[in-house]
Amino acid sequence: MDTTTIAQPAHPSTPEPGYVLRGLGLYELHANAILDSYQGGGKYLVPSGTQANGLYETRIGTRPERNRCECRGFASHKHCSHVVAAGRVAGRSAVCDGCGARTWRRDLSEVQESLTYFEGDLLCRSCRRDSDAL
Ligand SMILES: [Zn+2]
Ligand SMILES: [Zn+2]
Repeated sequence: MDTTTIAQPAHPSTPEPGYVLRGLGLYELHANAILDSYQGGGKYLVPSGTQANGLYETRIGTRPERNRCECRGFASHKHCSHVVAAGRVAGRSAVCDGCGARTWRRDLSEVQESLTYFEGDLLCRSCRRDSDAL
């Protein structure tokens, strides 16, 4: 690996474990596919990093200890790259209060004033366009 092009971590003495780096790699490659796979209830389908067309059902819980993945690595280690990738997708997205679709946070905006939505509701771009929200 060419380390000269990679930003140095804040704590070089504690490098990220391999499964975290693999998970971040899966996120880089498949972020939109993972978001689109959202099943509700915290469940995502995360592509396998090793098997073509492999998918793992991964659940991101309300607390980290509630995370689950159906892969063998999770069964033996209680962590895996799929949970890392889905966890990052979950952290960077939220459900639109208009259409209920899981959407990147950068594409959601908060309602300031509206007759149909509550102040603070999150709306995706198309719901906002179709609404009276300010
Ligand atoms: Zn897994
Ligand atoms: Zn929407």
